[in-house]
Amino acid sequence: MEEKKDRICIIGGGPAGLSCAMYLEKKGYYNYKIYEKLNKVGGKCWSPKLKVKHNGIEEEKSFETGAIMGAITYHAVSEMEEFGGYFHKGPDFKEGEPNMRRQFLKLDGTIDHPFEPKVNFSFKKLFGLLKLKKQMKKLNELMQTKYKGYDCYGHIGVAKGEYFGISKGVDGHCGASKENSFPNYLKGSNPNLKDLALPFSEFCKLNGVEEVQRIWIAPFTSFGYGFFDEIPAALVMKYLDVTTALEFVNMRLWTWQDGTEQIYVHVNEKLKHPAVLGAEVVKIERPDGKVLVTIKTSEGEKTEEFDKLIVTTPLDQFVNYADATEDEKELFSKIVHERYIDYIATFEEGASPNISGYLVENMVPERLGHAMVYYNRWQYLDRDCPATVYALANHTGTPDKEYDEVMKLMDEDMAKVGYPIKDKFFAQEVYYCPHVSCKDYADGWYDKLEALQGTKNTFYAGEIISFGDMEDTCAASKDIIGRFFE
Ligand SMILES: Cc1cc2nc3c(=O)[nH]c(=O)nc-3n(C[C@H](O)[C@H](O)[C@H](O)COP(=O)(O)OP(=O)(O)OC[C@H]3O[C@@H](n4cnc5c(N)ncnc54)[C@H](O)[C@@H]3O)c2cc1C
Repeated sequence: MEEKKDRICIIGGGPAGLSCAMYLEKKGYYNYKIYEKLNKVGGKCWSPKLKVKHNGIEEEKSFETGAIMGAITYHAVSEMEEFGGYFHKGPDFKEGEPNMRRQFLKLDGTIDHPFEPKVNFSFKKLFGLLKLKKQMKKLNELMQTKYKGYDCYGHIGVAKGEYFGISKGVDGHCGASKENSFPNYLKGSNPNLKDLALPFSEFCKLNGVEEVQRIWIAPFTSFGYGFFDEIPAALVMKYLDVTTALEFVNMRLWTWQDGTEQIYVHVNEKLKHPAVLGAEVVKIERPDGKVLVTIKTSEGEKTEEFDKLIVTTPLDQFVNYADATEDEKELFSKIVHERYIDYIATFEEGASPNISGYLVENMVPERLGHAMVYYNRWQYLDRDCPATVYALANHTGTPDKEYDEVMKLMDEDMAKVGYPIKDKFFAQEVYYCPHVSCKDYADGWYDKLEALQGTKNTFYAGEIISFGDMEDTCAASKDIIGRFFE
């Protein structure tokens, strides 16, 4: 392949930045640099190690503070795995592998079985489940027919009743093959797609499938992606397309033995130019078709010249250090994000949860700041395994919760359901799932972003493009590199 000469700067060494570099290489662009402000790659895929004790012997195991899981629909992530030579475990887990088992708990600590008709049988429960099953089927049919075209990555055209993008279908990226990573695109018109700008709860009501929210809520709201009365249905359905949602229901998920961070560590090692770590981009100037990038490292500041810029970092923060145009300022000021808080907890000896748990009663705005889910990773450690605990701190129309208050509520919740916390590690509040409101979605925010792509030699990638998960993020890189870098 002919080597392309363009000098390209990528801001951010998370999944988006590294996947941009990988896809650039696949297209013959080797003259790029990735700047990452931290001393590690992977961004929100952060898998620290903790010492644990098993049968009296101390060992180190990986835990997750950020991304945990994938599914059969993770096509772009699979390409990253292939490139880096590091692969997932599951969906059938063997002993000694991180598991994905979970249960539902009531706030008094008793186990709930909302989807198992035989346990705690009642006719009400049985009818509820039959109704849910019927509505799942209905939604599945509607998404294939009335909402044909919903399952492309990204949001181009949706607000106008059109679709354009790489297919999310299980056949994988519009027929992309190992030889040709860059696929054809799905394109069409479907006025019904405009409904996807509605909040997910209204979208469900409009289509007579309100019950399905019972299924979607756990992998959506408890995973920090927001509440159904505020999040555009497009975001919910693009992340949890029907195939992915069913993989969640059937617990046919993927995890990574040494953590998701290692996907990106391995990719980074194989890149022609691994990310420059500890290099924060602090200034961008774009005069006369050039891109001047100033980075700050422990050795001070320096400015370098490039031909093109790929921004994979939060765009609402980009305007603070770049010579942003009025269009950029206006558009990026509309971005909102979730405030997701988590920490890894240890418990008194023999008193930790030995299976992950959903606290569904806490997945409502009235219980903002309470623990919604906790993640148990190593089943073989039984009741001595640390767990990651998660809560959301924001909801449109409800005052935000302060970080310290959320931490306190989470501790209290874990104690109430029977797991009093001993110590906490790696506590963090994350800038999570950037997106726009239903109104801005309907006003064509994503089409305006698309129209800006390439102006001032600048391209926007990262989780804002499609959705805040690893797959949508890496697929967005594939899309941007595929279309704008010949
Ligand atoms: C708690 C949690 C659970 C999650 N669970 C899952 C899951 O199970 N499955 C899944 O698929 N996804 C999950 N995700 C989401 C997934 O991690 C993100 O969607 C993904 O990491 C987004 O990638 P990104 O590169 O766009 O952004 P990020 O991961 O945020 O990476 C951006 C990078 O840019 C760097 N940066 C920022 N500003 C600058 C600057 N000025 N100069 C240089 N560098 C800069 C940052 O340090 C960071 O490394 C989870 C995330 C969290 C936090």
